[in-house]
Amino acid sequence: MILHKTLSIPGLGSEGMEIPYFEIVGEKEGPTLTLVAGVHGAEYASIAAVREFATSINPAEVSGKIVAVPILNLASFWARSAFVVPVDGKNLNRTFPGNAEGSFTEILAHHIFQTFIKGSDFLVDLHAGDIPEALEPFAMFEESAVEAGSLLLAKAYGLKHVVRQSSAVRTVAGSTCAAAADIGIPAIIAESGQNGILTSESIAIHVAGLTNLARSVGVLSGEAIVHSQVVVHEGWNWLRAHSAGWWTPLIQTGNRVQAGEIVGTLHTILGELIEEIRTPEAGVVLFQTSSPAVSVDGILMGIAR
Ligand SMILES: [Zn+2]
Repeated sequence: MILHKTLSIPGLGSEGMEIPYFEIVGEKEGPTLTLVAGVHGAEYASIAAVREFATSINPAEVSGKIVAVPILNLASFWARSAFVVPVDGKNLNRTFPGNAEGSFTEILAHHIFQTFIKGSDFLVDLHAGDIPEALEPFAMFEESAVEAGSLLLAKAYGLKHVVRQSSAVRTVAGSTCAAAADIGIPAIIAESGQNGILTSESIAIHVAGLTNLARSVGVLSGEAIVHSQVVVHEGWNWLRAHSAGWWTPLIQTGNRVQAGEIVGTLHTILGELIEEIRTPEAGVVLFQTSSPAVSVDGILMGIAR
């Protein structure tokens, strides 16, 4: 049976929040797989993929339970807001496990963590490149006591690039998958799609990843494919702008760069060169800001080692 359920957070904001989600309970015993999307409300390919995957499941093929939440961050979704929650300007994926006494985003993270993340056996948080972000599909997981399990999930998703983040250099603190891994739940962030554009290809990449991952953990019947072409990267370099400016990337996502290579430039609005941006280390460009408008300390490019 595919149930339509709602997480109600009555005290959140002026009107409260109601987050709709699917719960698919199998006829046999098995693990709980939780799928969430819309942590960033304009990453539409990942949101559409969760809905498409959940509604296509035959409950007779499920052992255990699949919980699937298409949009966690409805405030950003309705505002078409990239990265941050418009109410308090915070990035939801930097605030887990949340704080019941905190700001709007912190309270939201607290309820999501308590309701959806705790009690799961496996967590997949689906993302895509946001409105100003070009992106090559990849999966990411955190160093933790359960990282071997997270790596298996990442490989099962079948994307070419997987990034392991060590605890010492967490570029993204407070993410869903870091908070889950910290309480012993194998978890990944999976990214496909870019610039907030809804393409059938980027949705299909997510749906294929979810199907194979669900099979690999035994929650969905069918034989899982073993992907052998996966490259595991050890961490990142996230390049940032030292000053605001007009950003021009010189490398396409998915391409390899060498240490010291110029990967883009920053100019003033009138076209004077401010800075040539070089990468400190070699790696593969997995995402980059595609909008020319970059503020001080704004992210320019994510280069996996
Ligand atoms: Zn995202």
